Amino acid sequence: MSDSMQLLIDLHLPGERQGPGSDACTERAIELAGLDANTPLKIADIGCGTGAASLVLARRLNAQITAVDFLAPFLAELRQRAAAQGLEGKIKTLCASMDRLPFESEQYDVIWSEGAVYNIGFERGLADWRAYLKPGGVMVLSEISWLSDTRPPELEAHWTAAYPEIDTVANKLGVIERQGYSLVDHFALPESCWMQHYYQPMMDRFDAFLAKHGESDEARAIVELEHAEIELYQRHKDRFGYVMYIVRKPA
Ligand code: SAH
Repeated sequence: MSDSMQLLIDLHLPGERQGPGSDACTERAIELAGLDANTPLKIADIGCGTGAASLVLARRLNAQITAVDFLAPFLAELRQRAAAQGLEGKIKTLCASMDRLPFESEQYDVIWSEGAVYNIGFERGLADWRAYLKPGGVMVLSEISWLSDTRPPELEAHWTAAYPEIDTVANKLGVIERQGYSLVDHFALPESCWMQHYYQPMMDRFDAFLAKHGESDEARAIVELEHAEIELYQRHKDRFGYVMYIVRKPA
């Protein structure tokens, strides 16, 4: 594993989550998706990180969850958290890449992915993962999206470089339709999902992270990048955000 990857793991592993979100928003999506707490469900959580969403799904639903990530240390942490909450019987981890999933077709009632599909792109995730969903199955993806029709140049430049597929909610809904899904619902994550649940706890870890790595240039560069992203968020949070998209594969 590269040194910079190891540094990113070190910074993010202690976090409650590795992207914007909250238990409350995961619960809201469960409700909007109409998932019944009594029906046995097979769920894949793709790009699960340390399992923020998996743990809520396991707590709320009668589910067998396959939690997938390509970073084994995150999965080890997830297993510890699941065991600490008595949820280990409902979650099994799978170390695999989201672009080469060892799944059979029409295996899952639900595919869940918070803050992660951007790694292969929203449209490709919808297209590729469809095969693994049962007919009538539900997919829940959170995806960074423009919340206004116009953007200041610094914001547009940053995010189109970081993620060329960033687009307006209307255009994201177009992609969903083009990929043959019906929209169930969608909602933008509130600011607390970014600041309280993701950025602030990360900022609180910066000093310990830098100290652990002897204030190395590489560690400082990572902190500076995160800082710049956080400042950009604070300046422009009304213009973009994560949107939870809840969609259904036709029966
Ligand atoms: N869903 C979690 C983590 C989001 S961060 C949460 O909301 O907290 C994105 C996650 O995707 C990271 O854990 C990262 O390791 C994982 N990831 C990135 N590229 C991946 C790939 N190609 N295959 C599988 N997982 C990947």
